Amino acid sequence: MSDSPMDQFLPDDRPREECGVFGIYGHKDAAQLTALGLHALQHRGQEAAGVVTCDQGHFYTHRALGLVGDHFSSQAVMDPLVGQMAIGHVRYSTTGDTLLRNVQPIFADFAFGGMAIAHNGNLTNARAVRKTLVARGCLFQSTMDTEIIIHLVAISLYTTVVDRMIDALRQLEGAYSLVALTRKKLIGVRDPLGVRPLVIGKLGDSLILTSETCALDIIGAEFIRDVEPGEIVVIDENGLRSIKPFGSSKQRFCIFEYVYFARPDSVMEGHNVYGVRKQIGKELARESHVEADMIVPVPDSGVPAALGYAEESGIPFDLGIIRNHYVGRTFIEPTDRIRHLGVRLKHNANAAYLAGKRVVLVDDSIVRGTTSIKIVEMVRSAGAAEVHMRISSPPTNNSCFYGIDTPKKEQLLASQMDLEAMAKHIGVDSLAFLSFDGLYRAVGESGRDPESPCYCDACFTGEYPTKLTDHSDSNGMPEQLTLLTESR
Ligand code: AMP
Repeated sequence: MSDSPMDQFLPDDRPREECGVFGIYGHKDAAQLTALGLHALQHRGQEAAGVVTCDQGHFYTHRALGLVGDHFSSQAVMDPLVGQMAIGHVRYSTTGDTLLRNVQPIFADFAFGGMAIAHNGNLTNARAVRKTLVARGCLFQSTMDTEIIIHLVAISLYTTVVDRMIDALRQLEGAYSLVALTRKKLIGVRDPLGVRPLVIGKLGDSLILTSETCALDIIGAEFIRDVEPGEIVVIDENGLRSIKPFGSSKQRFCIFEYVYFARPDSVMEGHNVYGVRKQIGKELARESHVEADMIVPVPDSGVPAALGYAEESGIPFDLGIIRNHYVGRTFIEPTDRIRHLGVRLKHNANAAYLAGKRVVLVDDSIVRGTTSIKIVEMVRSAGAAEVHMRISSPPTNNSCFYGIDTPKKEQLLASQMDLEAMAKHIGVDSLAFLSFDGLYRAVGESGRDPESPCYCDACFTGEYPTKLTDHSDSNGMPEQLTLLTESR
């Protein structure tokens, strides 16, 4: 344990989860299949990974900082993870230190037996509930909001584990797709608005719960259906049971999953993600055509939209920027200094193709603007005659409080500048974003219904579909959160 001053990471060590989850019931290779599923979900979290298995009432775990493949491939790690039930988690956090104590799944030994939980999403009243729990004497081991669920389950007066979970979740706001493992059950839960994804799959007689269908594909499992908003699925020796204890509300699935976060080969809520992104590119081409010689994606996230843009506009698609695949997503590096360095490490201009050309650059979003500035500079120094930037989403004006990491509002370029100033700031000849209606059309709607939008698009509109208790008053960080700094 180091004794570095706690204010070194106090402001940034916010409890946030941007993650992928996987759970399997009834397979002799449960741990191996979970590790493979997590590998397919690696884009959802690259900082840490963990697996918990259960065998005859005993739980086994391995959790580590880093990539799934770096930690879950050796026999020494995998052999002890025995049992036919497992859950796993990949974690993504761009803020603060990543500590082993913040790696999921988290496990607790209750009077009724052990339980492990893996969570994708963000609770928006976590700090408020945590304060109350701490005042009641609960001792927290991590800074994760997920641990709150564990404490609420522990103190619930209900008897069965499922009733205790329902009781716990009724006290929480925000977005959560959870998988939980008890001695006898695999449980999956999606919050009442279904903000984050969770799907059910099948491999032979085994049932699977996971964030994306790409995690089913990797192990040859069949996709059954999405877990419904507000649904709890309980999988045990009797098969799958579905409960809907939270009443019904209109779904508000996160539209940014389609824009950026999900893997393009996944199918979410009935839509192939790659197909949506291509359609977004077509909408963008219709909305903001510009005379140009080539359409160049910012790889990899801009590729499907750029293909759609090229198809619709008839302007040739070319790889004018080449990405080095051995560097992680730039955005995921925790500090600004590394983030800047990452952009240069990751992309290189294909100068032979760019020289003298009028280029349309297509990227999925502008967050701080760091990527765009570097990319535009690079394309210009490679000799491009004109550089036009097209963004396959509306301007990101607001922070996400539901599990996609975005910086504070003040750091979002679009919240600080108008279109013209942004174009100047990133150094382009023209800049255009996709419209709200264009985005909704790409997911099969006729446009965005302002009275009753069917997605969560708060990052673009500022209309948050849940209460934001932690963000609307003076509920600060409980002081005791950061008293422990682990050395790594
Ligand atoms: P920035 O450089 O801050 O403007 O970030 C924009 C780039 O980050 C885009 O190229 C996106 O592909 C990527 N991006 C956008 N949102 C996220 C996010 N929540 N997590 C990771 N990367 C992101």
